[in-house]
Amino acid sequence: MADYSFKADGRISDWERDKLRNFCATLEGDIVSLAREFGLKVLVEDLLPYERGYLQNAPSYGSPSGWVVKLNQQDRAEVQNFTVAHELGHFVLHKAHLAGRDIFDGRINRDSQSATDPFIYLEPSDQIMESEANQFATALLMPANQFRPAFSRLAGDQSALAKLFFVTEKAVKRRVAELALG
Ligand SMILES: [Zn+2]
Repeated sequence: MADYSFKADGRISDWERDKLRNFCATLEGDIVSLAREFGLKVLVEDLLPYERGYLQNAPSYGSPSGWVVKLNQQDRAEVQNFTVAHELGHFVLHKAHLAGRDIFDGRINRDSQSATDPFIYLEPSDQIMESEANQFATALLMPANQFRPAFSRLAGDQSALAKLFFVTEKAVKRRVAELALG
């Protein structure tokens, strides 16, 4: 799996790339503040158990873009952290697909979906978009130039890496695979 790079992605504008690069440079930034800089408001709500979050076009919340990120209040902070980065990925990379939608990255007819069948994709390309949003999130939260040395220093300890980058061990595993460190 090739490592994703913001630099090589033509869908990201110059000012967006600057903000992403600044965030990656320190890792001291807060992902919710970053999302706000992109015009998004982040809200924690009572979602369905299998829902991590989604984007909603709801101007009544008063965000500059009109869009908000909804997070599941039952999720651990590390999971919420990744979800914000994932939804920001959709917001930046998939702008064209957001047009005309009220909800993005949610589920069709959400009430009828059971926890054992959570993934009803809206169109064939959605699995590609999912994978792109995940790559965006790992690149943002675990920048390669920081993750590689940390992986060496901590001898690949996934639990320690998860703590350091404030993500789940599952996210660390994904990053280890992306950077072919495993
Ligand atoms: Zn998604």
